[in-house]
Amino acid sequence: MDLKDRFAGFMRQRTGKLTHEMVLSPGRFGLGKTPERLQPDSTTSMVCGFCSTGCGLKIHLKDGKAVNLTPDPEYPVNLGMACPKGWEALTPLKADDRAALPLLRGPDGALAPVDWDQALRVFTDKFKSVLAFHGKEAAAFLSTGQIPTEEMFALGLLAKFGMGLVHGDANTRQCMATSHVAYKQSFGFDAPPFSYKDFEESDVIVFFGANPCIAHPIMWERVMMNKRNPEIIVVDPRQTETALAATRHYPLQPKSDLTLLYGLAHILIREGWIDRDYLEAHTTGFEEFREHVKTFDPAAVGRITGLGEARMMEFAESLRPGKRVSLWWTMGVNQSHEGVRTAQAIINLALMTGNMGKPGTGANSITGQVNAMGSRLFSNTTGLPGGREFKDPKHREEVAGILGIDAGIIQDKPGLAYDQIIEGVNAGRIKALWVIATNPAHSWVDQEDFRRAAAKLEFLVVQDMYHDTDTAKLAHLVLPSAAWGEKEGVVINSERRMGLFKKVHPAPGQALADFYIFKLIAKYWGCESLFKDMDTPEQAFRMMARLSAGRPCDFTGITDYRMIDREGGIQWPLPASPDPEGPGAGTPARPIVRERRLFEDGRYYHPDGKAKFKFSPPQPIPEPVTSEFPFALLTGRGSSAQWHTNTRTGKSAVLRKLYPADSLVEIHPEDASRLKIASGDWVLVRSRRGQARARASVASTVQPGQLFMPMHDVEVNRLTFPSFDPHSRQPSYKHCAVRVEKDPS
Ligand code: SF4
Repeated sequence: MDLKDRFAGFMRQRTGKLTHEMVLSPGRFGLGKTPERLQPDSTTSMVCGFCSTGCGLKIHLKDGKAVNLTPDPEYPVNLGMACPKGWEALTPLKADDRAALPLLRGPDGALAPVDWDQALRVFTDKFKSVLAFHGKEAAAFLSTGQIPTEEMFALGLLAKFGMGLVHGDANTRQCMATSHVAYKQSFGFDAPPFSYKDFEESDVIVFFGANPCIAHPIMWERVMMNKRNPEIIVVDPRQTETALAATRHYPLQPKSDLTLLYGLAHILIREGWIDRDYLEAHTTGFEEFREHVKTFDPAAVGRITGLGEARMMEFAESLRPGKRVSLWWTMGVNQSHEGVRTAQAIINLALMTGNMGKPGTGANSITGQVNAMGSRLFSNTTGLPGGREFKDPKHREEVAGILGIDAGIIQDKPGLAYDQIIEGVNAGRIKALWVIATNPAHSWVDQEDFRRAAAKLEFLVVQDMYHDTDTAKLAHLVLPSAAWGEKEGVVINSERRMGLFKKVHPAPGQALADFYIFKLIAKYWGCESLFKDMDTPEQAFRMMARLSAGRPCDFTGITDYRMIDREGGIQWPLPASPDPEGPGAGTPARPIVRERRLFEDGRYYHPDGKAKFKFSPPQPIPEPVTSEFPFALLTGRGSSAQWHTNTRTGKSAVLRKLYPADSLVEIHPEDASRLKIASGDWVLVRSRRGQARARASVASTVQPGQLFMPMHDVEVNRLTFPSFDPHSRQPSYKHCAVRVEKDPS
């Protein structure tokens, strides 16, 4: 009997026992028929649940259920536009494979429905026994950038302060750890400085390892609204959709970007194209940086990057002071073995040319997931809530004081990073793993390594909106969670804007908002007092606001969800009026403006108020090509209709029509001709770790000796090489050595 039949049988028997709280308050847990707060036949606005752009969508309800949507013309992010994923955002909610009841793997090895009471007892019994028998470091969690900030916050409190887990990380390690560390070291706080308005106000827009035409299409639309006739420069080994649309493309050799950036700095200094006043007033470390880049002779850099000296000069001249230059990067930089220093080399260029804090400028990291920024501030994984440090005793005291807990239970260092957790499982030190809203059996950079680890676990829990993701299929226990549109909370987009998720549709069966799953686990574990002032996500939001007080991300001026709704999202910081008793009490200390950038006063978050130059020598590519594996495999987004492991976008027939049905590999015509490969042929791509089968697409978008595969196909991460940036431990997905041949079968 398959899972669908078992589920149907279970529902027929009607033996699904709810917990006490669910029976008392079914609507609160997402079990009721009618969404809260909203009229049954109405239209409301909320933020899209896919990417970090954070577009506003108008959701149309009939009989209490979302039936359709249109992009919100009033929302300051997207101004009435949406990409295909946004238009299809409701479709994944209706999929047949929604997790609707908890599932427990039985003695026969199959997953079978159980009630929440049994699921929660099994969860707590197993985790408690693993911790008791193997020690407090024997269990861990892996979370996500896809859930609202209140849920990340609740998970961090529960896991670290309630259950006493030492180790937990999120899939944001796979996309944004590099930017997080780079900003912290350079600016003194993880603070992307820009507003989307800067796309419209630049004279020169440079994209490093970024393909916004398909990865962030609405941001690209903002570029297209620029009336200053900007130079648009793309730095990418591949001729991406954005490179084709740009005014200039620099197709550098893969992973030569750090060398290129130091070479550009060399030219700017040599030619005197720098802003000395800005450097002296607002930065430290420039003299040491000047010494460092002296050896990056443009002729040599031109050879290493493949761009040549003349094009280096042309590029540098575009950055000279006098124009508004904005520098943007995404995963081509972040997912690198030296991503942090590469991001900081971009930051250094912005600092030395005075392109910070002014319209149309900035060193700007574009985020990936809808709430990566929330994870960076409140997930309690790499840092304490509010962007505080585990290692700082004052920070631990502050957090403990606000939460009303003993500071002694807060660990004095972050736990293991994602890769170290998987390594811990494979080494037998970690026995239980809790995976929330992410799919590492597909997405992890060394996919087979994760699958080996999963097979060794005594207990794997997957909490997800689908019961059949690649990772859920391996689980001992599946906890069904409500999805975007079925719960409420705040997410933070790339430009630091807090936007709202709302509950506009009931969750299926007994699926619950993750917030309430965490609260129930706290109750079964015996640590529910952690949540004593947080019955709802909005109350948790107020607690997070208290934790943000006095921090660079201070948003104490945001009083409630209604205010976020009314204002069309609000960028942090927005501190409250400083006088709690005064006439302005409870109101923001400054006017709310629709778009706002940081560092307009030239003050950064280091104690001396200055930004730091950070740099170090480029490192060799971890897995260079060889005669046996002669191709460099590049990976990236395939189309604007796909999202990550396709668990949601794959549910839409409309979106599926917008991307190829089969796995795809781009190969240059010269290589294809030599290997007798034609477009449409099935080929085998092999690395030292595994093999993928894909259809060839012969195209000069890649250079000779390079291949490109979209990351959404499950085979791709069988190939990728697990190397990690030493500062951020972010995996390097963008380069590994492979060979390719026509599939003989
Ligand atoms: Fe949603 Fe991102 Fe598309 Fe906007 S660009 S509609 S946020 S997926």
